[in-house]
Parts: sequence; C-alpha cells; structure tokens
Amino acid sequence: MPSAEIITIGTELLLGEIVDTNSRYIARRLRDAGVDLYRTTTVGDNAARIAQAVREALRRADIVLTTGGLGPTVDDPTRKAIADAVGVPLEFRPELWEAIQKRFAQYGRMPTENNRRQAFVPQGAKAIHNPVGTAPAFIVETDDGVVISLPGVPREMEHLFTHEVLPYLQRRFDLHGVILARVLHTAGMPESALDEQIGDLERQTNPTVGLLAHPGQVDIRITAKAESEEAAAAMIAEVEAELRRRLGTRIYGADGETLEGVLSEQFAARGLTFTVLEAGVGGLLLQRVGHVAGFLGGKMEAEPLPPDELTARTRACCDTRHSDWAVGLSLFTAEGANRCSVVLVRPEGEEVREFHFGGPPQMAPNWAANMVLNLLRRRLLAPGAANQNR
Ligand code: ATP
Ligand code: MG
Repeated sequence: MPSAEIITIGTELLLGEIVDTNSRYIARRLRDAGVDLYRTTTVGDNAARIAQAVREALRRADIVLTTGGLGPTVDDPTRKAIADAVGVPLEFRPELWEAIQKRFAQYGRMPTENNRRQAFVPQGAKAIHNPVGTAPAFIVETDDGVVISLPGVPREMEHLFTHEVLPYLQRRFDLHGVILARVLHTAGMPESALDEQIGDLERQTNPTVGLLAHPGQVDIRITAKAESEEAAAAMIAEVEAELRRRLGTRIYGADGETLEGVLSEQFAARGLTFTVLEAGVGGLLLQRVGHVAGFLGGKMEAEPLPPDELTARTRACCDTRHSDWAVGLSLFTAEGANRCSVVLVRPEGEEVREFHFGGPPQMAPNWAANMVLNLLRRRLLAPGAANQNR
C-alpha cells in the first residue's frame, strides 16, 4: 500500500485565521482509496520552508500532496518551492497560458501579467487544467515519489482531487485496497484499565486498535486494510468479537450510537419511566436525558447537595412525578479532584454511589453525566429490570 503525506500551505492557516479543512478532506479520500497517510504538515507562504517540507516528506512517503499557494501573486510560492524541492527550474507552458486567458475572456476580463505566473510549472511536470478556477495544478514525478500540488480553495481542490488526482493515483499505484474503520464506545472504565485488558490488541498492525479518551468514556477504533471492503469488514468483525468477549457490557455501542440513545432503547424496552434531580451540574444531565424514552422531567439545583439531602429530594422527585425510577446527581468540582454523588431510587431499594475523577472542573459536568447515564444503563441490563405492573 503506498504511503502519503499532506502539506497544507498558507500563512493564514498558521495564524489560526482559517481552519484546515483540506487535510481532512484529502485524508478521508486517501483512506477510502487504500493509501496510508503518514503525516500532515502545515507551512506558511514561504518558498524555502515549503521546499524543505516537501523534500522531507518525499524521503518518507511515496505521495506528497500540497494544497494552496498556487495563486497569481508573489505570496503564492508553491510552484517555485516544488521546483526547488525536486531540483528543476520552472518552465512556461503556452497551453496553460492560453487556458487562463480563455477563462478570463469568459468573464469579459483581461488577465494581468501576474496571472502569467500561473502558466509556469516545474520542468517536466504533468499540468492539470483547472476548469473551476484559474490556478492550474500539477504533478511532478521524481525517483523518490510524486508531488501533487492542488489549489487552496476547497471547492477547486476537491474537484481536481476527484476528477484528476484520484484516477491518476489509482493508475500509478494500482490501487484497489481499502481501509475501513469502526469505533466501539465504552463507558465506566478508565483508559488505563482498558489499556491493561486490550494492550496486546493495541500492538497489532492490521487491523490496528487505538484508544481515544473522552470525559467518562473511551472510544476504541478498529482500522483494517484489505483488498476489498468485505475482507476489511471481516477482519474488523474478528477483532470486534474479541474486544466484546473481553469487555462485555463495558461496550455500549458502535459508530454513531450514543449513551443516551442506547438508554432510550432500554427504557422503552423495559417500559420504565424515570425522573432526574441534578445539583451543581448546570443543567447538563437534564439536557442529555431530554429525549430519552420514559423521561418524565426533573429538577435542577444550582449548588451541590450533601448525600442525605440529595437522597431525600430525589425520592421526592420520584413521588411527585410518579415515576418508576429516579436518579439524583450532585457534583462537587475542584481542579484535579472532582467528585459526585449519585442516588438511584427504585422500587427494589435505594443505592448511593460516589465517583471521583481528575481533570479540569469545566469537564466535570460531562464526566458526571456520563457516569450517571452509564449507571442507569448497567442497572437496566440486569435481568429483573422491568416494570412489574405492565
Ligand atoms: P488562489 O488561486 O485562489 O489564490 P491558491 O492555490 O493560491 O488559490 P490559497 O491562496 O493558498 O490558494 O488559498 C485560497 C483560499 O482557499 C484561502 O483564502 C482559504 O480561504 C482557502 N484555503 C486555503 N487552504 C486551505 C485549507 N488547507 N483548508 C481550508 N481552506 C483553505
Ligand atoms: Mg492564493
């Protein structure tokens, strides 16, 4: 499988004035085409630094894709930088100049002498006409690999990528492999504990298994490379089965599934209703359960409550709204030492739990809400959890 690197060019990217969406677009398209992306880099509009980045990338990867800096002004340095990187001069292409003039004529305008710059490409490059803009793109083949330079404007870049670059790469590298990914969501288990249970799988190369931690949740991404989509899916299914064997109900869903979505299905299937009392969470828990089936409403307190008080008010919440279950959450935040009390009131009894977690206080409400949703999910998994009256 060929390897690639992306270099996005533009000082405005480094200044944080625009967000680099070109990398994301190209990364996904390369993944789907079965090209391994090794690295993405952003460089300002500086010919020497672009040339250096391109030379370095060419040493590591088969394909180097750049976007931006192909415009007609002096601060559009990509043409010259690529020529320098591969050690050739720029050469004038009359047919590109004609195409640029024609395009200007369509708008009833005359190109400036500056626009003539855009008719230059590195010597020996394969020029790519740009029917959706003026800046022509180009491909340079060297002994070290290929450099493909595309315009920065996303619409132009995407058009040229789809219609010119992808077919070129498919021919040149005989691409037919695909990379497929699936994400499993876990809750209630810290990243380190998860790592201990599946560390051996994280070290294997195809499929790869990687962890991504969120507050109170950890995602496991499985990525497989194969000749066909079916083969990749089969490889993923095998690893997924092993992960599910080891982690069981710690895994609550996959891909687009959410904790509240899963909870909603569970409440609906069991025919149970519930209410919520939250204290010191700023409304986040109520917001998260807003669309969960069986939710009968709740109450919000601005300040955290001591456990006894929390239990009494949660019970009251359950009684006034005649719900089957009620859950109370009280959050105490402190930098690196957040703590929450959770009370679960059910016909079979009351349960009080304490959770401690690190991290900044701003993340704490999310963390605490995920703890509560996960506790509810786990209790709903128990065989007896169903409405006895229905
Ligand atoms: P032009 O001929 O329009 O000047 P160009 O190849 O010189 O094209 P740039 O001048 O670098 O491209 O960028 C043009 C515009 O495209 C930028 O102002 C920005 O809005 C957008 N753009 C450039 N790079 C990116 C990127 N990596 N992600 C998203 N948008 C980008
Ligand atoms: Mg430009």
